[in-house]
Formats: sequence, C-alpha cells, structure tokens
Amino acid sequence: MSGLVIEQLSKTYDRQPVLEDLNLEVEAGGLQVVLGPSGCGKSTLLRLISGLETPDRGKIILDGRDITDLEPQKRKTAMVFQNYALYPHMTVFDNIAFPLKVTRTPKGELVKIVGETAKLLELDKLLDRRPAQLSGGQRQRVALGRGLVRQPSIFLLDEPLSNLDAALRMKMRQEIVALQKRLGITMIYVTHDQIEALTMADRMIVLKDGHLRQNGTPSEIYNNPQDSFVASFIGTPPINLFEDEIKNGAMKKLPIQFGHDIKDGHYQIGIRPEYIILDAQGSIAGKIVSREYIGAVSYIKIRVNDLLITVTAESDNEKYKNGQPLRLTVDYRNILLFDHNTGKRIVI
Ligand code: ADP
Ligand code: MG
Repeated sequence: MSGLVIEQLSKTYDRQPVLEDLNLEVEAGGLQVVLGPSGCGKSTLLRLISGLETPDRGKIILDGRDITDLEPQKRKTAMVFQNYALYPHMTVFDNIAFPLKVTRTPKGELVKIVGETAKLLELDKLLDRRPAQLSGGQRQRVALGRGLVRQPSIFLLDEPLSNLDAALRMKMRQEIVALQKRLGITMIYVTHDQIEALTMADRMIVLKDGHLRQNGTPSEIYNNPQDSFVASFIGTPPINLFEDEIKNGAMKKLPIQFGHDIKDGHYQIGIRPEYIILDAQGSIAGKIVSREYIGAVSYIKIRVNDLLITVTAESDNEKYKNGQPLRLTVDYRNILLFDHNTGKRIVI
C-alpha cells in the first residue's frame, strides 16, 4: 500500500509514556491532521516518523517499506517546523537548494530542480531575496520548497502557522491545503488549533496524553465525538457539558424528555450551542446572563436553574438584554450522552 502505516507505535521518555500503541493509516495524497493539546505527543510522533527519535515499540511503514530503523536521510520524509528554520544569510535559491547541496547533486540538475520547485511555489521571482525580505507566507513556501526538492514521500508539518497573526494564519491554511491538493503530496499536519484541524483535514486524529482518542473526518469528529474530551476540545463556542440525572427518560437540570427509554442514572450531557433554540413555546425557562456579539451570530449565556449554558443565536443587537427571561427548546436527538465516570460516548 502506498502512503503511511503506523502500527502500535510507543515511546517513553524517562519512564513516562509519551505515545502508547498508536495506530494510524495515512492514504497517499491525503492531508492527515493530528490535533491535541500541548504536550500530548504530537511533535514526538513526527520525530519518530522522520527518524529523529527511535520508538520503543511499533512499526512505521512508508509506501510499503518498513522505515522504522532507517536513518533519517534515507526515509523520504520532509519536516517543516513552526519557525521554518530558514538560513537567514542565504538567498531563497540557496535555502531551497540546501538539501541538494548536502547530497552533492550535480550543479545542472540542482539549478533545474530548484527552478521548477520555485515556479511551482510562485517563488521564481524572489530567488535572490533573503528570508528577511519575504512575507510570512513566502517564507512558509520557501520552507516547503526546501522539503519538496528532496522529493519526499510524505511531508510532516509541525504547527507551521503558530507564529503568524490571525489573518495570515487563515490565508496560509488555505494556501497549504491548495498546494497539497495541487501537488498531490501526502501530508501530516500537526496543530493544537481545532479550527485549523477542522478546516484543513481530509482526516484527523485527536490525541490526548499520548493516546489516540478518535480518528475520522472533521464532520465525523464534530458530530459524532466518541468521548467527552473530544466533544469539548472541538467546537466554537465549546459544547455545553454538564452532569445530570435521567429518570424515566427525562433530564433533571434541563426539562427535556427523550423520545424513547434511556437507562435511569447519572450521565455527562453534551449539547452543542447551535442546537439550543430560542423558542417562545419551549419547555425550558431561563434568563440571559451575558451576550457576545460577533457579527453573524451572538453567543448568549443563559442561566437555567443552576446551570449556565451557551446558545448560538441569530445576531440581533437589540433583542438580547441581560436579565431578560426567555424560553428554549432542544431536540433530544441532538443531545450527546457520555458515561458519567469514563466519559465514553453512549449512543442512544
Ligand atoms: P506536543 O508536540 O504535543 O506539544 P511533545 O511530543 O513535544 O508534545 O511532548 C510530549 C511529552 O513528551 C511532553 O510531556 C514532553 O515534555 C515530553 N518530551 C518531549 N521530548 C522529550 C525529551 N527529549 N525528553 C524528555 N521528555 C520529552
Ligand atoms: Mg509540539
């Protein structure tokens, strides 16, 4: 199979497990995102794939070849870091050409490859500049170009946009996806930013404490989270997550009746803010506590009994006043239930 297969990959630092039994398949030509909070093992995963670290256990197979014990230079992987690590005193040309010089590529061939790569990345007019004379986006492309000339089987990007301001980040994530699709390269993109993950991924995994929590497409992960961590890590504003008792198919803290039997007991309840609907006939009575106007919609915090819930509502400046009473409704089919103790999803 072409693409990347990772089997039961494990790594421990100072007896502390950092990655445990990770399994992952990345299809050739796919953009795989690895999402997780800081310290969950994302960079370690990329360093194991690129050969900068050795795993304690497990296998890494790239395009059908077991590369687990191969030297980094022989793996056909290319890594792009957060700070791009460009050589400031070198021109764009020399930065892109650097890996080819290391492998003593003949001059004629080197000039040809760098020229083609620069054209592909629309850097061909900038070859004489130094990194300081480039925009953030152009620097990013030089870093990609330096990887591309090695003709890697897979590109590994480690939080490449975290140093950029919000507007440039948004532009760059589209640019990277467009480039990845145009070139048909296989890519693993690491980020702690859930919006970046949702917007860029063909498929994504969510990591926590070195464990894979879920693997799926962005919409599978958003709509069908397998545990309360994944549910709460993804979504803007975050999902409403609280403990409640269900008895005879009715919730206690929010008066909602399920349409079928639910086992009596305590649950973690998850309701996405967009599924709570302002409705004068709704069964739930609450009071507005605060409102965040963000243009297209407003996020309203509403107190219902002891519960504070967030609702995504239409954006009407005048309508929502602090202290104002209102009624809400939730279709029980949009409620996610999780095990009270383990946080594991209970499909109803
Ligand atoms: P992430 O990239 O998701 O933020 P890392 O993979 O960098 O996380 O680190 C995962 C964990 O492993 C962290 O707790 C970190 O402190 C630890 N770690 C990373 N590299 C080393 C190392 N060389 N020696 C010891 N501990 C390390
Ligand atoms: Mg990292």
